[in-house]
Amino acid sequence: MLKYLLFDLDNTLYSCHYGLEKNVSRRIWEFAAALLGKTPEEVRRQRMEAKKQYGTCLEWLMTEEGFTDVEAYFAAVHPPGEADSLTPDPVLRTFLENISIPKAVLTNAPREHADVILDKLGVSDLFTHVFDVRQCNFLGKPRREFFDHALRTLGVSIEEVLFVDDHPFYVEGFVAMGGKGILLDEDDFHSDYTQPKIRALNEITRYIS
Ligand SMILES: [Mg+2]
Repeated sequence: MLKYLLFDLDNTLYSCHYGLEKNVSRRIWEFAAALLGKTPEEVRRQRMEAKKQYGTCLEWLMTEEGFTDVEAYFAAVHPPGEADSLTPDPVLRTFLENISIPKAVLTNAPREHADVILDKLGVSDLFTHVFDVRQCNFLGKPRREFFDHALRTLGVSIEEVLFVDDHPFYVEGFVAMGGKGILLDEDDFHSDYTQPKIRALNEITRYIS
């Protein structure tokens, strides 16, 4: 029986068409490029080659490049006003309110970013917990440690949770642990993805009834 719904934040609780996360990615590459003295494209390529080992760019920088100034990274990647284009989403709110299963957010971003986004959408009060990347010593999805931390805190086993994320890499991490994960692929970008997949968040009702 499902006891918790675990949601990714960016491009999951709001549409990827806002372009918000695209800007986050751009700022990540710019930050890493300045740090390593390379172009953003060179850094992006280097990071992609290391992708299987590291869930986030931050983890890669910390492990491979000895980077430690995590707060400078977060400040650069999530500047004030980053979510100004987001508007309250009463449709999302009603949809979530009508699901009686408790809900939590699991994000590779820092807590302050999650708070801004959830406030903007007008859904902060609908989640019992927000798991952010600071909570597990900067190990984010798809690390087992991060998922385990969330499950432990929620007091549930992995079979009792449904996880939704727009990144196959993160969904696959959860599924590899024995969990039920669904890919939210709004634009059918991952057309070769063969596991459970939805195009809009409200399709999760197929998996929770
Ligand atoms: Mg996401």
